[in-house]
Amino acid sequence: MERTLIAETPAHAGEDVLIRGWIDIRRDHGKLVFLDIRDHSGKIQSIVLPGSDAIAAVADVRGEYAVEIEGLIKERPEKMRNADLPTGGVELEVKSIRVLGKPSVEMPIDVSQTDLGVNLDTLLNHRTLALRNAKVRAIFTIYSEVLRSYDEAMRAGGFVEIKTPKILGSATEGGANFFKIKYFDRDAFLAQSPQFYKQAAMSAFERVFEVGTVFRAEPHFTTRHVNEFTGLDAEMGFIGGMEDIMVELERTMKHIFRNISEACKTELSSYGESVPNDVAIPRIRLSEAEEILRAEYGKELENHDIDGEGEKMICEYVKKTFGSDLVFLTHYPTKLRPFYSMPSKTDPSITETFDLLFRGVEIASGGQRIHEADILVENIRTFGLDPEDFKDYVDIFRYGAPPHGGWGLGSERIVQKLLGLGSIKEAVLYPRDVKRLTP
Ligand code: ATP
Repeated sequence: MERTLIAETPAHAGEDVLIRGWIDIRRDHGKLVFLDIRDHSGKIQSIVLPGSDAIAAVADVRGEYAVEIEGLIKERPEKMRNADLPTGGVELEVKSIRVLGKPSVEMPIDVSQTDLGVNLDTLLNHRTLALRNAKVRAIFTIYSEVLRSYDEAMRAGGFVEIKTPKILGSATEGGANFFKIKYFDRDAFLAQSPQFYKQAAMSAFERVFEVGTVFRAEPHFTTRHVNEFTGLDAEMGFIGGMEDIMVELERTMKHIFRNISEACKTELSSYGESVPNDVAIPRIRLSEAEEILRAEYGKELENHDIDGEGEKMICEYVKKTFGSDLVFLTHYPTKLRPFYSMPSKTDPSITETFDLLFRGVEIASGGQRIHEADILVENIRTFGLDPEDFKDYVDIFRYGAPPHGGWGLGSERIVQKLLGLGSIKEAVLYPRDVKRLTP
């Protein structure tokens, strides 16, 4: 007999089917045994009757056994239907059961509970098993939809997908947040952004995007940093200015949220969350934000840079003033942005750059880049760097490059803030932090 997916069982009422899946929960009621079975498509209740051939085979079967079951799909009486399950109108009467794989150790955590109720370390130490919990799995169903939707939005906008190298010969952008690795007989570095390569690709394809691993050697102990994350990058040419980039990013975010609200209703509701409403994302200059923070919260910014607390406050202000969960902060001071950031025409002490904040946390950083080689070289010097170290990068702009810019968007932070997760690590399948390299 061919396998029937659990989601399809309601269409097979009155028929014998074969299903495969894990035992979610076993419940014994007198001589009756109830087994909730789950596969990747859904969950169904099954029942083993006392006189049936299967009753002996089911004697040892417990939660998390992987099984194959043949049985009869029966419609449940109206008053016994389970409205919470798509398959709640039917049940499976087990005729035979075969164990395909069984746990050989005591389960360290009970994944059948609605909430695992374990601390972050325990959750991550038992990551593989924890992923069998429906609520934990929901995070990654949504994550998968973020990736799919980003891809879809980018392609719809005419962006070409690229993959850029993650092993680099030099710590290109400078700074201390590079991991050094051994590369045959010399040193190499893990990429901390696809910045230079995506600009190079832009100079040929005009619009490119990348979904790629980003490595950061920052010894952070925060709820929003990990040392390896997946960046959703984009770069676009022939822009009129930074606003064009924000328009594209706003379109992309709205597409992601719309898809999630349609495809992940159960997952969102298991966290009691919903996607942001569809209002236009406000744009606020960082200098204005500084004024707002001072006036509304009595908060002073150091070096005109906004910290985590300031980001939270400004998001709160934007929510109550404009009803938006997202906000663009624009025109960051030149000193706070990388050397390739385009200075504002009217005031070169600020740049044509922005951050996108979502529910209190920065999720993306972007802006217009300098596209003229000579100006770039001058700026590299102004930043106290040696233009010789950036020869390949500067050369991109010696062949004629249009005004351009783009963004780096953190995939995990989107999911973290969407579901209100305490730590970004909950939204990373196997997170890497200062202390954690396993599992
Ligand atoms: P932060 O100020 O929060 O440390 P950043 O300014 O270093 O972030 P960028 O280098 O601009 O971040 O990276 C672009 C995006 O990548 C960020 O907005 C964020 O969503 C994500 N990101 C950056 N660093 C990390 C990290 N260590 N862990 C997870 N995501 C990150």
